[in-house]
Amino acid sequence: MALKGTDVVKKLPELGKKNCKECGFPTCFAFAMKLAGGGTSLDKCPHLSPETRDELLDALAPAIRLVTIGAGEGSSVLQIGNEEVVYRHEKTFLHPTGVALLVSDSEPESSVGEKFRKINKLHFERVGVHLSANLLALRHDSGDKEKFAALARKACSAGPAPGAAGPPGIMLISEDADALLAAWDACAGRRPLLYPVTHENIDRILPKLRERPTPVGVRAGSIEELVPLTARLRQEKLDEIVLDPGSRSLMDGIRDQTLIRRAAVKQSFRYLGYPTVAFPCLMTGDPMEEALLAAAFIVKYASIVVLSDLDRHTLLPLLTQRLNIYTDPRMPLSVKEQVYEIGEPGPDAPVLVTANWALTYFIVSSEVEGSKVPAFLLVKDTEGLGVLTGWAAGKFTGDSVAAFIRKSGIEEKVKTRTVLIPGMAGRIRGDLEEALPGWKIVVGPREASDIPSFLPAFAAGLKQ
Ligand code: SF4
Repeated sequence: MALKGTDVVKKLPELGKKNCKECGFPTCFAFAMKLAGGGTSLDKCPHLSPETRDELLDALAPAIRLVTIGAGEGSSVLQIGNEEVVYRHEKTFLHPTGVALLVSDSEPESSVGEKFRKINKLHFERVGVHLSANLLALRHDSGDKEKFAALARKACSAGPAPGAAGPPGIMLISEDADALLAAWDACAGRRPLLYPVTHENIDRILPKLRERPTPVGVRAGSIEELVPLTARLRQEKLDEIVLDPGSRSLMDGIRDQTLIRRAAVKQSFRYLGYPTVAFPCLMTGDPMEEALLAAAFIVKYASIVVLSDLDRHTLLPLLTQRLNIYTDPRMPLSVKEQVYEIGEPGPDAPVLVTANWALTYFIVSSEVEGSKVPAFLLVKDTEGLGVLTGWAAGKFTGDSVAAFIRKSGIEEKVKTRTVLIPGMAGRIRGDLEEALPGWKIVVGPREASDIPSFLPAFAAGLKQ
């Protein structure tokens, strides 16, 4: 539950009357209001006692703690948690579910190699966003400590996929605490997620965690049994925790995930204010059912889902669903403002201009592609609005489109000086002609679906 400015002031009785302005705000109250809204940080006030600072830091922290898995130059970092709402329509969900691929140290070398290749190969680009799985979940099944450590070393040396920021993060899974710690030593620089920390092994693992903190997955037989474990870790200021309430069926899993989220967000129960992990891979042997389970856990509210394998036909829908769930519903998807070349356009190719709402871009570009006429598509930043709404909002006006065309560099790429504007925005033609001397403005079809029949004749006319 978010802290209000008045609550912040109440926590600062000695401070509330000082009003020294050193924080850049005219009064302590103004500072408190801004702080509660996330508009400033505690370090701006030099007069806070360490106790008050700690108390406020805790009170102002998001309902669910941010956990970062991965580190090191060139590595991919997975951030999970930091969520503040139960329902997506209240505010956006911030950190998308991490998808983990399970790799056992008892699998044949060829299968391990294939999985390492898969996680690097299965990358997708959708509406300008790079989509991929995030973690290798290495599981110790062989009983051989050294074999598990060797698998961890191998995961460490895996290279990044094309287009990815770095190699996938690492989750280490072992019921044998010694094997877990040995594998951790083998990839400590990568800041892996250690799993599981339980009532049975916490005394063995805790001293090592104090020396070298890393995120840990805490597992218990129920939500209630998780609480003493997280309390113990919090006491040690080890706060990067991922919760596993031990549920291994869809019904139990969704119930537990929901109860944890509600306890953290609605009741501000800090001992459950952590991201969670779900294991569809342990709930079924059917790959299709596993994907469906993962889909359910992405919706409610797993921060990591562990899958036994990855396939293009199951991974792409899961990643697309994740993209949809974790996209701010208040912000339209957009593509970058720039000149897009469709086909191999030459100096005589047509020039079209449109808005940068992702759907507009993809529909228009695919219709231009379908026309088989190589063309330049100039996509203007309208803050994710379509052509008509962009025009109504003053973001697709004659003046602004002219300024964009001039700075786009298209004049160096084409000999022609004719630009095709969307029929929906035909009314900007006059302003555009005035603002863009030397250019001929042609109003194109209102519907993108008419582009394939319109564009060939238009392109032929440019060459005459
Ligand atoms: S610096 Fe601290 S004490 Fe001074 S006005 Fe700001 S909040 Fe108040």
